[in-house]
This record gives sequence, C-alpha cells and structure tokens, in this order.
Amino acid sequence: IGCMSYSFTPPQEVSPYENQITQLMSKMTLDEKIGQMSQFAIDVLLKTKDNVPVEPIELDTNKVNYILGHLKAGSILNVPAGVAQKPALWEKIISEMQKEAIKATGIPMIYGIDAIHGGTYSRGATLFPQEIAMGATFNPELVYKGAEVSAYETRACDIPWSFSPVLDMGRMPLWPRMWETYGEDTYLNSTMGVACVEGYQGKDRNKIGMDNVAACLKHYVGYGVPVSGQDRTPAMIPQIELLERHLKPFAEAIKAGALSVMVNSSIVNDLPVHANHHLITDVLKNDLHFDGVVVTDWQDINNLYVRDHVASSNKDAIRLAINAGIDMAMIPYDPSFCSDLKELVLEKKVSISRIDDAVRRILRLKYRLGLFSKPTWNIAPYTQYASDAHQKLAEEAADESITLLKNDDHILPLSKNTKILLTGPNANSMRTLNGGWTISWQGDKADQYLPNGITILKALQEKVGKDNVIYEPGVTYDMNGPYYAENKPDFAKAVAAAKDVDVIVACVGENSYAETPGNLNDLQLSENQQELVKELAKTGKPIILILNEGRPRIFSGIEPLTKAVLDIYLPGSEGGLALANILFGEVNPSGRLPFTYPKYTNLLTTYDYKPCENRATMNGTYFYAANNTVQYPFGYGLSYTTFEYSGLKVNKTHFLPNDELIFTVNVKNTGKVAGKETVLLYSSEEVASITPDNRRLRAFDKIELAPGETKVVTLKVKASDLSFIGLDHKWHLEKGAFDIHVGSQSLKIYADTTKIWQNYLKE
Ligand code: BGC
Repeated sequence: IGCMSYSFTPPQEVSPYENQITQLMSKMTLDEKIGQMSQFAIDVLLKTKDNVPVEPIELDTNKVNYILGHLKAGSILNVPAGVAQKPALWEKIISEMQKEAIKATGIPMIYGIDAIHGGTYSRGATLFPQEIAMGATFNPELVYKGAEVSAYETRACDIPWSFSPVLDMGRMPLWPRMWETYGEDTYLNSTMGVACVEGYQGKDRNKIGMDNVAACLKHYVGYGVPVSGQDRTPAMIPQIELLERHLKPFAEAIKAGALSVMVNSSIVNDLPVHANHHLITDVLKNDLHFDGVVVTDWQDINNLYVRDHVASSNKDAIRLAINAGIDMAMIPYDPSFCSDLKELVLEKKVSISRIDDAVRRILRLKYRLGLFSKPTWNIAPYTQYASDAHQKLAEEAADESITLLKNDDHILPLSKNTKILLTGPNANSMRTLNGGWTISWQGDKADQYLPNGITILKALQEKVGKDNVIYEPGVTYDMNGPYYAENKPDFAKAVAAAKDVDVIVACVGENSYAETPGNLNDLQLSENQQELVKELAKTGKPIILILNEGRPRIFSGIEPLTKAVLDIYLPGSEGGLALANILFGEVNPSGRLPFTYPKYTNLLTTYDYKPCENRATMNGTYFYAANNTVQYPFGYGLSYTTFEYSGLKVNKTHFLPNDELIFTVNVKNTGKVAGKETVLLYSSEEVASITPDNRRLRAFDKIELAPGETKVVTLKVKASDLSFIGLDHKWHLEKGAFDIHVGSQSLKIYADTTKIWQNYLKE
C-alpha cells in the first residue's frame, strides 16, 4: 500500500438537468407530483397466500396497478419476501415494475435498498465487514474500493440507490446500531463517509454510471446517541455538540456530492427530526447547499402522529413533515397519504412551491442516475458479480480491521502444529460474522443461505487440518429466539476437550441483530459466555479471546484470564479466513479501535471527553489512561512488530487561520516482520473560551513497513480545522497554543490570531 493519502472535496456541480425538469414538471398533474413523493415497500406489490408472499416471489398485477398505476408512486424499496434474491430475479421484478411506472406517468420509479456492507440482499454477493470494522481499518482506500464493489454488485441487480452510508456517531455503546457506524470520532466518520460516497457514486454526481449507485447519508442527524441507549428513543444533544460532532460528517459527505439523505427516525432536543424545519430546510438544504432528495425513515411521517404526539392526525403529520422539508415519504400512510397531501395543497396548508421543490429533487436524482434514458439494465455484463477479486478485497478489508488488543508473552501468532480447542457460540456461524442486514433484516437467515460460507471453524480447519482443531461450543445461541437468547450451556464437554490441546480459542460476542430488536439493558458480555471462559481458565490452558460483536461488550471480569484478545467486530463473510490469517501470522494485525472500549458499565466515555483534570497531575496523559478507567482507548491496536516514532516536525510553529499545517514524522519498523501502522495525529488546545476537548483526531495515515524500514509520514491539517463551535454556534479559531501528538512524539504550535467563521461551511 505504500504511503496512503486520500483526499476528495470536489466543488458541487450544478445539475445540468434543470431545464428538462422544468419542462417535465410543467406537464405533471398534482396527483403525479404527489405520487413521486411516495415510496412503498416491495412486499405490498407481491402475490401472497395467507398474507405471506408466494415462493418464488411474483408481482401481483392488481397491486402493481394500484401502487404504480393509480397512486403513481415514485419509488419502491426493500427486499422482497424478506430474504436476499438472485440477481436475475431482481432484474425481472424491477423491469416489470418499471414498465408499469412508465406506462402510468412516463417517469421511471427509483428502487432503493439497504446494501450496507456489500450486496446484502442479493444472493451470493460479496459481503464486506460492517461499517464499524471498516472504521477499524483506518484505511479510507479500502472503504472506497469496498463501496465501489458494493455499488457494482447492487447495480448488477438493477438497483440504483443504496441507503448507505450511516454517518451517525457511534458514541453510545448500548445503542444497537453502533456497529452500523464508523465509530466515535468525527474526523474518522467524515473521512470514511466521503470515501464511501465517492466509491458508491463514482466521479460525476450528475452522471452516475452503470457500475455506481446513489448514496444515501443516514440518519440525519443525532440518531446515534439516544439518552437511554435504546433504538429510536430521544437524544438530548447540546447545539455545540450537534454542530461540531454530529453534523460535520454529513456536511463533508454532502460537499463530496452525496445525492440523498435519510432523516433520523427519533427525537432530538424534544422535537422529532422529521418535523424539524430548522434542521432539514435551514441547515441541510440552505446552509449546506444540499440539492438532493430528503427521504424519511420507515413510516416516520405517520410516527409524528402515532408515536411522537406532535401531530393531531395522520394528515397533520404530513403537513408538519412536508413543510419541514421532507421530499419523499418512505412507507407513507396508505391509502390516504396521497389524497391527504393533495387536500393540504388545495387547503393551502402546504404550498405548491414546497411540492415542486420536492419533486424537482426527486426528478433530479432520477436524471442523475440515467433512469430516464435507461430505466432498466441488462444485468448480463456484470460478469464480476461476486468474483474472486471482490471476495479477496473483502478478505483484505477484514484482515485490516481485526484489532489485536492483548498479546501477552507473544502467544500470537500460533504455529501451524498447535492443537486448538475452538469454543464459544460465535465459532461456527456465518450469521455472527456478518451481523444484521445480511440476507434478511436481522441477519438470522445467513447460515441457511450461505451454507458454504467459511466460518471460523472451517477457516481454522483449512489452515491447520481438521485433526488440529477440536470444536466444542460450550455455549450456543438459540437461533429461533430473540438475538440474545442462549441455549442451556454445556461447559463440561469443552472443559474436557481442553485437556488435550495447546491453546483455547474462545469466540464470544453477540448473535446478529438490527435496529430495535437489538436493544440491550446490560453491556456486559452474557453470563454464560463469561462463565465458559472462567471454567476453561481453570484448566490452565492459555485462552485467546475472540470478540465477534457489534458493540463493545464489557468483559473486564474475564480479561485477566486471557493471554490474547482480538476484536473482529462483524467482519463479513471473509472474516473467518481473515482471523485465521492473523492467528497463524500470515497477516500482521493492523486494525485500531474506532471507539473507546469501556471497562465498567457505568463509565462510558469517549476519548475526546472534556477532562476537568488537574493540569499539574495530568502529566501529558489523559483522563482515561491516567485513571485506568477504560479497557482500551480509542485508536488502540497492537501488531506482531514494533514501530518507533521520531523527529516530529511542522512547517510552521506560528500559524494563521488560512494556513495549511504540514507535519512530518519518521516511523520505523523496529521488529522482525513487516507490518502496517496507522499514524494518528491528535491536537489538544491548551486554553480556550470553553473547556477544550481532551484531544481530537485531526489526521491519520496508514503505512506499510518492512522490518528495519523507516518512512517519513506527512500529515496535513488545515489550520481552520483546529477550530471549535463556540457558545454563539459559530466556528472559532482562538489565539493560543495547541499540543500536537503523533505516536510517542509531541510538539507545540501557536495560532497567532483569532478568527470566527460565521457560516457552518466556513466559506
Ligand atoms: C432503518 C433505515 C433503513 C430503512 C429501510 C429503517 O427501519 O432505520 O436505516 O434504511 O428502514 O429499510
């Protein structure tokens, strides 16, 4: 990989389709316009028997006529019958629907899907690590390439729109969607978000090619930090925090050209975001110059009435949401969304100019995707669907995500004649490797539909032979119960098997889940799983703990019983192989934690926490490290080699707001094997008018070094990026000193003058 640097911020191109759109809209009826604003689930168009879609799935002509012909719906979404389908079937049903849409209005419908870690709902598709693991790679090039492959394989099913990436901040480990994020840091989320959008959409946002899809940034904004930790529950986010941390990744991805945004289903600061005119229209559409489509989340207009109590009826909810700036209603309240919205326009409670703005945005997206000239694709040219090269890339991403957290006495890597007891509920499951949104919403069909998938068990057997791997799970999940349900444990067999082996590889963590069903009350790893490790520890055999989980489940009680710990997150279908690569030293681990790994359930902090520590005793260390209150800090991750940092330099120690700061540092591989190192640059402001963050990540780069090799790493930071949002909700760069930390090195730089940016985008 050499020295990697990734940067992308093209100016937003103005759409060249505006005249065509004006002409088209001049001929559209109000019904047609309102139809464009509705998006229905594919299931309501399918043939059913006893309310269950018939197999193999088929469109129901009457239902298709109603939704696309009569209601003139502009968009359809989701996965038919709830499970992944073959590309050819996708092509067939989409072209049938497209014919009906064009017959009804002359306007193609747009199909959208949650292809969040590869072709999640396309049979046989490549499945990448989930976002949290992609965050752990600290390698935006891999995110970019992975997004390219995901786009290609999604388009190979004739689907042009993906509800991805998630740019919510993973700062609340209880939240069951933490794994859908790139972790807790704003800069990491922004960098990965931009890389992902560029990979999905390709070079020209006005001409999305046949190998690309439109991205959808979700869930705008503040979804990731519910106070209770439960999904779709209220967040209270100070405005400073909302602007500086939560909005930033969206702003950067919009600057990079993202074509659509999905709104946060929940309530932020007492107002459901779907009813928040300020956030949707003033901030997103006006301040950030977003010219794409704003789509609701699932049934969320209806929720303003039934769940959130801010509307007095469904019709009132529609008025609130459309006036707040919503362009498209996902799962509109049927049958009355279209007729209610029409009435609201006729009653002058929703202006026709608001409708026109929404429709213009939707048509713009369809032109940009080339749907008017080519409403359906012939999938035959997509010969690289699930190719070896794509799978290899997914394996490489998993290799780079897996994070070595402990390696006492250099127990890892293992030699290939080590006799292993493989245990734990996650040792032999494609479901747990992939997590939710895989094959089916909850990921619960993964084992059935990926029967030849390489689980950790199979991967280990392939590497060292069946005779060297004894498998006794000890604890198993109840695959028919809720995601957290476990069967009655059987420790005795595992303990007995341990007597004949050299090491124990214990694969613990979580079963797959998505959204609200993944709510959790206690962040501790399950009692059974902890008990299993304790029982095995009594045998005296060394334990290598593998954490296969979507959020940091606390395991401080058993950590001292382990020799090595690896977090593999949700590494995708190639994750078993990647883990085996690392266990046997074929790959040197290089993942870094994209979040703070907590040690105690009642002490959840992030690395950038405002310290309030005594300066004199801090002594260059930070709250979490100084007090040993976290299991592992953000950015932590070990390697089989060692790296030494020296000679940190900067192009100027005194700078002005428009300057670019260029840092260089020498990094040497001082060990015996080649390895990849993520070089992280943090800044800490010494004094500011509001308490500054402990420290903030400002730049990073990942390099590869041969044994003994030294590289000079260059990290660039715009001085303006050292600014913070002040009490007046503007960006401030204040005069004063900043400590810069890179690895073991630090230096001081000084802002010579003060500057306030009035505008969010700092123009
Ligand atoms: C989720 C979204 C998803 C949508 C469509 C919702 O329940 O919150 O992330 O894109 O469903 O499947």
